[in-house]
Amino acid sequence: MRKIFVTGGAGYIGSHIVKALGEKGYDVLTYDNLSSGNEWAVLYGKLFIGDLADKDAVRKAIQDFKPDAVMHFAASIVVPESVKKPLKYYRNNTVNTLNLLDIMEEEGLSKFIFSSTAAVYGIPESIPVNEDMLMNPINPYGTSKMMAECILEDLSSAYDDFRYVSLRYFNVAGADYQGRIGQAYRESTHLITRALKTAKGEFEKLQIFGTDYTTPDGTCIRDYIHVDDLADAHLSAVEYLIQGGKSDIFNCGYGHGYSVREVVETARKVTGIDFQTEETGRREGDPVVLIADSSKIKRVLKWQPRYDDLEYIIKTAWEWEKKR
Ligand code: UDP
Repeated sequence: MRKIFVTGGAGYIGSHIVKALGEKGYDVLTYDNLSSGNEWAVLYGKLFIGDLADKDAVRKAIQDFKPDAVMHFAASIVVPESVKKPLKYYRNNTVNTLNLLDIMEEEGLSKFIFSSTAAVYGIPESIPVNEDMLMNPINPYGTSKMMAECILEDLSSAYDDFRYVSLRYFNVAGADYQGRIGQAYRESTHLITRALKTAKGEFEKLQIFGTDYTTPDGTCIRDYIHVDDLADAHLSAVEYLIQGGKSDIFNCGYGHGYSVREVVETARKVTGIDFQTEETGRREGDPVVLIADSSKIKRVLKWQPRYDDLEYIIKTAWEWEKKR
């Protein structure tokens, strides 16, 4: 049985990957400090509660488990917070990745899957965004992830046997089809989560950030990908590395997008609740359109999305949200 060491496996995205790995028969060890994750979210394998800054604890967990590959999700991910507290982001996202790679080197581990983000592109020069475009992040969150990607690239050039896959996520949403796990981070500011919490009555109205963009309805467009499709992409990536695939970077998105207004309308339809919205000014740092060119991951990793359907994405997120 293949063993995978998963940092951040108790968080929103990590827990869906742990589930997918477990369902496929992998032996999983989640390493998480539970700062934003939850013990109940780890559906398969064991949970080691520890901080990535604690190198001795990480080393001990890895030495005991002896994984075949490492998947690294543990990170700080709130963009506005990264602007206010950049050191936290460079420490948690860049330095902790470096620490983990150090330990992998010491322990002779050579396969690494990195949780990256479309934020490394910043305001893209053209749409759809492909992996060869220059990284040009516009906030410390994106920069902290870009720096980790640079380290990975240099490492794989320096050592023939070290191989990694970096997956750059677009807008991840939705929840487990059985409603066991989902976005549980209370402070989440993501559009779909906020819309559903507004439908539930947690907020009086949903703010629409900017209606004067150069898009057909004036609002920003994003490529929303279901978290279970993202999990499949990770399974494909780890299989690829195990079978000897070379280091590479892949976008994770569907290759088309929806505007904020389209998301709001779909959320109203799915929930049957005509929640209120308020049109406000633009949110700082928002690119107008962010859509992945996802042809590379389909071609190289043979990834086939199963849930490319905004209604389904919102429906699974709603089932999850209602239970909370
Ligand atoms: N958005 C919005 N109201 C909200 C949250 C988000 O209008 O309460 C917009 C945001 O400005 C962006 C899009 O929805 O255009 C997606 O934002 P989100 O924070 O979900 O993801 P991001 O693309 O920033 O990673």
